[in-house]
Amino acid sequence: MQAVLLKPGREKSLLRRHPWVFSGAIDRVQGDPQGGATVAVLGADGRWLATAAYSPRSQIRARVWAWTRETAIDAAFFRDRIHAALALRSEFATGAGEARRLVHGEADGLPGVIADRYGGIVVLQLSSAGAEHWRDAIVDALAAATGCTQVYERSDVEVRALEGLDARTGPLRGAMPAAPVRISEHDVRYLVDVVAGQKTGFYLDQRENRARIRGMARDRAVLNCFCYTGGFTFAALAGGANSVLSVDSSGPAIEIGRQNEALNGIESGRAEWLEADVFQTLRNLRDQGRRFGLIVLDPPKFAPTAAHAEKAARAYKDINLWALRLLEPNGSLATFSCSGGVGAELFQKIVAGAAQDAGVDAQITARFHAAADHPVLLSFPEGEYLKGLLLRRV
Ligand code: SAH
Repeated sequence: MQAVLLKPGREKSLLRRHPWVFSGAIDRVQGDPQGGATVAVLGADGRWLATAAYSPRSQIRARVWAWTRETAIDAAFFRDRIHAALALRSEFATGAGEARRLVHGEADGLPGVIADRYGGIVVLQLSSAGAEHWRDAIVDALAAATGCTQVYERSDVEVRALEGLDARTGPLRGAMPAAPVRISEHDVRYLVDVVAGQKTGFYLDQRENRARIRGMARDRAVLNCFCYTGGFTFAALAGGANSVLSVDSSGPAIEIGRQNEALNGIESGRAEWLEADVFQTLRNLRDQGRRFGLIVLDPPKFAPTAAHAEKAARAYKDINLWALRLLEPNGSLATFSCSGGVGAELFQKIVAGAAQDAGVDAQITARFHAAADHPVLLSFPEGEYLKGLLLRRV
């Protein structure tokens, strides 16, 4: 079998079951493995450590498929892993219009594979050479296990370039989705544009956090910053918010937000949409003397990796500072970071700095994480990208 041999001492992370092998850890490569080929990972002493997918172009040179030597990497392997991933999710089946993450990459033992289900459509995103190599087996297994006749590909993420892979989108099974898919989340209805929307179409990771916001929105004036298609907007409206002002720089996202308004039968005047930059809008709202009882800040990934942390910290600090100044006394701010490069501890420090500069005292009343269909592998803490704080102004 083709193999990568590690430098002395570099087997440690694999012994802890961390699933990535970085190029700098590799002493030499046996054979001539192509992109996505299955290789054995061997310690400097020749000891077998794992079976992995080879990525010749990436700094993450190999991603582990299996920790047992006898596990063959074949179509049956992908069927088994996908069945195990679906079994976990069966605990929170949501019925018709269901929307959930079926496969969450490394955390489900399938590095580079993301699969989300929206009603009868599975949206698949393959982002590593290994996942790309096994695309047919993965699609077959997903279609068979879910019974979905439509599988749509959204492998248009930037990280594919690091693997030397071009973007790919389009139907893998069934027809091209003709219109946005209707989903329901805790009885709130949303349209999901799986073809042109962000990520696979919807931010499923925020499901439980939206429910939390719903529970505290009654009679509040709500500001939802970085609203996308109104995930938190409609949760707050369902929870009895007086009004929700939703801000996003994406015109197409706001357009779907307006359609969601009709879909949920929201009385006119309760939802207001603003296609604008949040950084500027927060300042404008302050100038206008506006105040809110509940504010959500769910910005995009400012720091994809730790290398961007400093610049990201300035951006997080800025929006949190201005948002805190817009809060009524006893008002709450739900503030999030989905940056892998900014950990929960650092994020809390940044927000504390923002409160200090804003001259605002606040309590942490809850901490937010991604929903349970986005599990985190204990041996792969990098997978824990979404963190958030619920603050109450005192
Ligand atoms: N809270 C949303 C997801 C937010 S994703 C939900 O629950 O569905 C982040 C959003 O920020 C994207 O919709 C993106 O269009 C928007 N965005 C990025 N930069 C922005 C900026 N400077 N001002 C306003 N919106 C921005």
